[in-house]
Amino acid sequence: MDLLEYQGKQLFARHGVPVPSGAPATTVEEAVAAADEIGYPCVVKAQVQIGGRGKAGGIKLAANRSEAETHAAAILGMDIRGLTVHELYVEKASQIDEEYYAAVVFDRGAKKPMAMLSRMGGMDVEAIAEKDPEAMVKLHVDPLIGFQDFQGRRLAFEAGVAADVIRPVGAMLAKLYDTFVAEDAMLLEVNPLLVTEAREVVALDAKVTLDDNALYRHLDSAEFRNLSAEDPQERMAKERGLTYVSLDGNIGILGNGAGLVMSTLDVVAQAGGRPANFLDAGGGSKAEAITSAVEVILSNDDVTAVLFNIFGGITRCDEVAKGLIEAFRQIEPTVPFVVRLDGTNDKEGRALLAEAALPNVHTESTMLEAAERVVELAG
Ligand code: GDP
Ligand code: MN
Repeated sequence: MDLLEYQGKQLFARHGVPVPSGAPATTVEEAVAAADEIGYPCVVKAQVQIGGRGKAGGIKLAANRSEAETHAAAILGMDIRGLTVHELYVEKASQIDEEYYAAVVFDRGAKKPMAMLSRMGGMDVEAIAEKDPEAMVKLHVDPLIGFQDFQGRRLAFEAGVAADVIRPVGAMLAKLYDTFVAEDAMLLEVNPLLVTEAREVVALDAKVTLDDNALYRHLDSAEFRNLSAEDPQERMAKERGLTYVSLDGNIGILGNGAGLVMSTLDVVAQAGGRPANFLDAGGGSKAEAITSAVEVILSNDDVTAVLFNIFGGITRCDEVAKGLIEAFRQIEPTVPFVVRLDGTNDKEGRALLAEAALPNVHTESTMLEAAERVVELAG
């Protein structure tokens, strides 16, 4: 789950990472009230889960109340790279002296968290990497030992940050690492990490991604979930406990087991089709789970055909067939289905389907044939 800047900053503040004071707002009136409270000059910032807000005009400095009002009115409702601004963050303005870049991420190759620091902040990481790859210094952290204070100072020294801020920058890295671990984050990015004219070190921006699978132990963070920004099918699937990922094609896919579903996506693509989703109904899927999954797949209007690819191990093909029959009874789909049932109780499953004579359901015996058929039917 990606957090908005102000939500990330709330987590930062909880773990002692210095951030400017600020308040979120959803209306112009709220924004003006927040600005009055914070004092001028302040900054009005669009809250959308995407970077580059500054360049897009979503971040404006307000010297007084009337400017705060003008900026809040202009930014609310603004479109930033496809996202509409519904929330603002009003923050005390900072006097910028230097802009650095800091991040804590997982290095999956090294199987360790990694801290990164560059003295070239304020621009995209990609731009930093391109302009001066040497400028980004990295450090792997042993998760059992944790982040040591000397490591922060060494990283700051290696990155070439100004001598007078080596200690506070190092200390901020240690606190970012604390935040990363304590909040079960997957990514923390501070760009820019600011040195103010008073030589204070603060996080001026926050990009935080939390691990969805750990949200059950962070009920306060779970409230950050922005339902309106989530894909409607993914949200529906999550509520039903299904493993579902939206894709941009038109062929709905259902399989059992992540590996089989991945292969199915590949075979459909090989046959010239474009999958609309990944949906793993899981091992041992009962009829009810199948009905529920069909509802999620068909709630996507882009879907013009559906492929069921089931390999029965623990899952019994007759249960899947029953689920499909029930789904047809409840939903009466208007798009064609191609079904491949193989493995445990496949004969019984196919017999049930034949007996039910569902309209527009085609059975195929191999995965490739099924994929070719569904691509043809999807048009
Ligand atoms: P992003 O464009 O979405 O990454 O948003 P940021 O929060 O990183 O802000 C973009 C840029 O706006 C920063 O790099 C700063 O240069 C500028 N900015 C943001 N807040 C302030 C502030 O309080 N004072 C000043 N002078 N500039 C700011
Ligand atoms: Mn930024």
